[in-house]
Amino acid sequence: MLSLDVPPPKLPEQAGPLPATPGVAASGRWGPRRKMLLWLSPAVLSQYALDVLAMGPGLEALVIRAVWALSVVLSALRMDEHSASSQRLHTAFQCTMGSLCFIALVLVSGSCDGVYFQFFPCLPLLLCLVYPQDSLSVTISGALCSASAAGMLWMAGRPVSQLLLWGGIIVTVTFVGAYGASEFRKVQRAENEGRLERARREALESLAISERRRAHSEKLATIGQLAASVMHEINNPVAFIGANLDYLEREVLSERREISREELAEVFRETRAGVERVRQIIGDLRGFSRMDAEEPTECAVADVVSDAVRIARLRLRHVARLEVDIPEELPPVLAVRRRLAQVLLNLLVNAGDALEARGHEGSEVRIIGRCEGARVVLRVEDNGPGFPPHVLPRLFETFFTTKGPEKGTGLGLALSRELVEQCGGTLVAENREEGGARLRLEFPVGSTARAAS
Ligand code: ADP
Repeated sequence: MLSLDVPPPKLPEQAGPLPATPGVAASGRWGPRRKMLLWLSPAVLSQYALDVLAMGPGLEALVIRAVWALSVVLSALRMDEHSASSQRLHTAFQCTMGSLCFIALVLVSGSCDGVYFQFFPCLPLLLCLVYPQDSLSVTISGALCSASAAGMLWMAGRPVSQLLLWGGIIVTVTFVGAYGASEFRKVQRAENEGRLERARREALESLAISERRRAHSEKLATIGQLAASVMHEINNPVAFIGANLDYLEREVLSERREISREELAEVFRETRAGVERVRQIIGDLRGFSRMDAEEPTECAVADVVSDAVRIARLRLRHVARLEVDIPEELPPVLAVRRRLAQVLLNLLVNAGDALEARGHEGSEVRIIGRCEGARVVLRVEDNGPGFPPHVLPRLFETFFTTKGPEKGTGLGLALSRELVEQCGGTLVAENREEGGARLRLEFPVGSTARAAS
């Protein structure tokens, strides 16, 4: 039975959106962001050792450090790493809390005369390193730090030039940090897009390969369905070739040779005709099993139909009468000849299957071609049982079949419609009023035919 290739790969778009922000875990409870925050909280707390060195042991600094560390843990617990807006919110919260706690530490360490005051410009830079993707939060921190530094200097009665100097330093550092962060984000986004594009291209390529293999498998399946008829067809010429060779052997080797030259020539002619018949059948089948991606060209409908009919006759000759009605003046269609012939072969084999139970007497299959406006219409009709009402809406579903597993794959009509649509045509199925099935193919008339009219 037909075995298909691996299912078509998912395109990246189908696989779900990429993480909105670089570095965010696509799955799992503890992604890199949360882990980083959890590591950050003991680091914040342990900095109390520096506070002790800078200003001696004190409860205020310990409480500030504890609040800071707690806010970090809280963020880690509440952050939703799958949501970009939740991450932005928590980053803003972290930067604001960090800045406020640091300002409080500067205040308790002696305001603008304390050891921490000169680190004001460092805070926005540090935050840029921890949250490179969020320039808004860094800007918030910079604004808080520069306002607080200016406020402390003003409260201490320092000259305006000092206020301006410190404010200017912090604003500049913040601006450089925020600019660097936004550039970093752009580079990461470009890398992500490049990765996505590469993945999309690879997925499309493997989709195209598996599509071609599927089409090839279906062709082989149709050939498989024909195998019994082909065997029978080849057996006949092989049988009389064998009989002729026996006859020749007997006559040539016998003492009393009675065979005349004319008889001999006749035997050779018959034998050669048999060999020719076998070669023709094999050639036709080989043509159908070839897997090539051809561009649509203008095809004479009569030629395509005769390609399909030559093979389909093997199946239909014991089942039904096959009638072909393709007027010579029918304009050419734009299609891939081998594929269109394969579609017709599918439809003819299906008609043969439908008529099999009915017996040869009165069974008919017809291929009719007509030009209707700018379209060429081909109808493949039979006078079999037609499509039952529950089958009609599902005909073009892949793997839908009413035949046994040894005969049907349920791919013939689905693939036929796909092949026809690839050539800009349509394929529809209906029941004939007088009984039986009708498959109707419509193709746009080829360009030279259109230009000539
Ligand atoms: P398969 O031939 O492998 O079953 P197809 O997609 O070619 O797959 O056909 C799907 C189904 O459509 C068939 O199983 C059959 O029930 C129905 N069908 C197709 N052609 C005809 C026809 N000419 N007359 C009646 N039923 C048909």
